[in-house]
Amino acid sequence: SMASPALLMRVVASAYSVAEKAATIVRNVMAAGDLGIVEKTGANDLQTKADRLVQMSICASLARKFPKVTIIGEEELPSDEVTDELIEDGHCEEILKRTCPAQYTGIKEEELVIWVDPLDGTKEYTEGLLDHVTVLIGIAYRGKAIAGVINQPYYNYEAGAGAVLGRTIWGVLGMGAFGFQLTEAPAGKHIIVTTRSHSSTLVNDCISALNPDSVIRVGGAGNKIIQLIEGKASAYVFASPGCKKWDTCAPEAILHAVGGKITDIHGNSFQYNKDVKHMNSAGVLAALRNYDYYASRIPNTVKQSLVP
Ligand code: AMP
Ligand code: MG
Ligand code: MG
Repeated sequence: SMASPALLMRVVASAYSVAEKAATIVRNVMAAGDLGIVEKTGANDLQTKADRLVQMSICASLARKFPKVTIIGEEELPSDEVTDELIEDGHCEEILKRTCPAQYTGIKEEELVIWVDPLDGTKEYTEGLLDHVTVLIGIAYRGKAIAGVINQPYYNYEAGAGAVLGRTIWGVLGMGAFGFQLTEAPAGKHIIVTTRSHSSTLVNDCISALNPDSVIRVGGAGNKIIQLIEGKASAYVFASPGCKKWDTCAPEAILHAVGGKITDIHGNSFQYNKDVKHMNSAGVLAALRNYDYYASRIPNTVKQSLVP
């Protein structure tokens, strides 16, 4: 008889459906028109009703299926009862049929940590830059991001009524990443993608030192990794604290699954154990190709300003 699917594949298959439910919530809250905006640390650090509902939906849905997995979400919420309509219990059959990479077949629930950013790019969401928004579910094992799901609820929203709205990108180390067309950035050009709403002198000085051909300023860590894997940008450079583990876990797994690399600005890899500090204090540096080129050109003055 067929062996039952490995835990990792069951988690990814469920996370896929949970992320699609999340995307529906993100769109419904916007369509209803009352975003319920709350400032967390300040005007550039916001939470909306969508961030709250989606976090409850994702965390409760995954916790019901995988009670021993550690799930860490961005939003601090009162531990209210989650209503049944927020629960997604489906999974993606196609993912469940895939063979789990051999090194991950023995993973147990208590060994997984899931990092959830219910809505990445909240600032842009409140400003109507809807395609910057993503839902991020990252899966870590032994401190490493090994699988991830990125849902982009408003993919295609400018393409008109005939186009299918939204998409789900997923990936597993050793298997690859799916749901998009892997595309190389223009050869010989240095196109940097960076923050739109969290710039600083250091962020801009670091980019200038790379002597870029062009700079793309967009919201969201998930969105910026999408720019890399679809060939819109050659490097993601963010010389500032501010990004957290839930911002980088799912994007890291997908970027690494297709041969890219993401680290802090010093070149240190990120750790995703459950007890790790949430803040990526020493910034973000990522590329699909030629990571070493960009890493070698980060000025020492920038490095000295960012303590890991
Ligand atoms: P950005 O590239 O500015 O969209 O940032 C990527 C992710 O990191 C988003 O989830 C932001 O909310 C978060 N982030 C970056 N910088 C800051 C900051 N200074 N304060 C709060 N969140 C930040
Ligand atoms: Mg975020
Ligand atoms: Mg968020």
